[in-house]
Amino acid sequence: MLSKRNFTHPVKVGSLIFGGDSPVSIQSMTTTRTKDVTATVTQIHTLEKAGVEVIRVAVPDLASVHALASIKEKISVPLVADIHFDSSLALQSLDKPIDLLRINPGNIGGLENFSKIVAKANQRNIPLRLGVNAGSLEKEILKKWGFPSATAMVEQTLKYIAIIQKVSFKNVILSLKSADVKTTIEAYRLIASKTKYPLHIGVTEAGTYLRGTVKSAIGLGYLLLEGIGDTLRVSLTANPLEEVKVAKEILQATGVRKFGPEIISCPTCGRCNIDLIPLVQLVEEKVATLKEPIKIAVMGCAVNGPGEARQADFGVAGGQGEGLVFRKGQVIKKVSEKYLVDTLIKTIKESINWE
Ligand code: SF4
Repeated sequence: MLSKRNFTHPVKVGSLIFGGDSPVSIQSMTTTRTKDVTATVTQIHTLEKAGVEVIRVAVPDLASVHALASIKEKISVPLVADIHFDSSLALQSLDKPIDLLRINPGNIGGLENFSKIVAKANQRNIPLRLGVNAGSLEKEILKKWGFPSATAMVEQTLKYIAIIQKVSFKNVILSLKSADVKTTIEAYRLIASKTKYPLHIGVTEAGTYLRGTVKSAIGLGYLLLEGIGDTLRVSLTANPLEEVKVAKEILQATGVRKFGPEIISCPTCGRCNIDLIPLVQLVEEKVATLKEPIKIAVMGCAVNGPGEARQADFGVAGGQGEGLVFRKGQVIKKVSEKYLVDTLIKTIKESINWE
């Protein structure tokens, strides 16, 4: 069961709010050279269409800093500049029209440089994400805990928080990522019990499409079901378009957000007498743009088929080269396999005024 949302103080990030009772937003990161404005904006537009709500770009050099304004004016989602190692790039990015600056205080050239960035972000009223990573904890913390455990990550984060509190800076989002799912979960649970900053959740370097999806679904799904997380990124070694799709599925599967229909389909077995896999794929394609959170069951045969299809808003259950179409538990029609999808879609369209 979904736990009550963990309360965090709202922080404004461009047109969005992270935290409070705002929807958990979907982030992704471009894979283009940021200084190549055309390629970066083209990729962002594709991701916007797929449902990305916040976009992060890498800023590894001065040319990328200079590209930020041109990118920002051509996109509609909040823009996050991601800086590692070079505090001067972070300070210069804060002069650009960005909506959030993401830094890892552990690799930005020491606490003095980190303090300078915090002071400027405060002065410019630009929120900061402090991205604490298991791979870049301070030596003394690592020595104390022996390895980058969740407790070590939280202790490190609290140390950074003490610095931002010195200047009463409140526009802060936290992330505590590890490539290990259990450590990630433990770290977020612990920090959620100690602070009220909005949490950007993610399993870092989760891997290729299949492995990364599974690790992210477990890690993020667990946290979301506990009510933890205000914004998320699924981190895949794949096209960022997949990150957005997987993020939506995780949010939808946990019941945290609804983006469109839920499609229930059986795995098929030796009883299935229709070609179910392409049939489900076709249904998915046809309802891809539908926003209505209806339940559609696509079942292979009459064993579980009619039962599942009846519990859904709409459904089909296959038979011998034919199938039944259901609406709200009632059989509407029996049609041949060839017309099953069209009849299902027509039935949905007639029922919910979907053009
Ligand atoms: Fe097999 Fe029918 Fe169950 Fe699908 S619904 S898995 S075809 S028994």
